[in-house]
Amino acid sequence: MKENLNETRLSPHFRLDEFLNLRKYPSNIPDMQVVANLAFGCYMLLEPARGLVGPIIVSSGFRNAAVNSKVGGVRNSQHLVGQAADIRPGNPAQFNRLVDFLRSCEYTDQLLTGNGWLHISWNPFAKPRRYVKVGYYK
Ligand SMILES: [Zn+2]
Repeated sequence: MKENLNETRLSPHFRLDEFLNLRKYPSNIPDMQVVANLAFGCYMLLEPARGLVGPIIVSSGFRNAAVNSKVGGVRNSQHLVGQAADIRPGNPAQFNRLVDFLRSCEYTDQLLTGNGWLHISWNPFAKPRRYVKVGYYK
């Protein structure tokens, strides 16, 4: 199962394992709905963003309940359902461009930034909130 996850693509430039942190959290295995939700985020937000700013590094995507509590995530975190990712551009000089792009994206549900990172979330099942907070992370 894990070996297959490593080869599974969500979209042309994003692999499923980039969103799982399996080396650190081997039990962080997503179900099919989570995978579908992650793919939605890749196609609607991350691929278009990558086209603009180049490679994007994902530090955290899906988190099961155990992982989410271990990292101090909020109880109703969208990471729990594969509707969020913590990312930064491989080229730090592209940070503001990435923020500006995701801020303008119609599929952005929540965008929190700061300290060189962005938390971006999406929801395939609801109208995007378009909530943006720049400088959220200190
Ligand atoms: Zn996050």
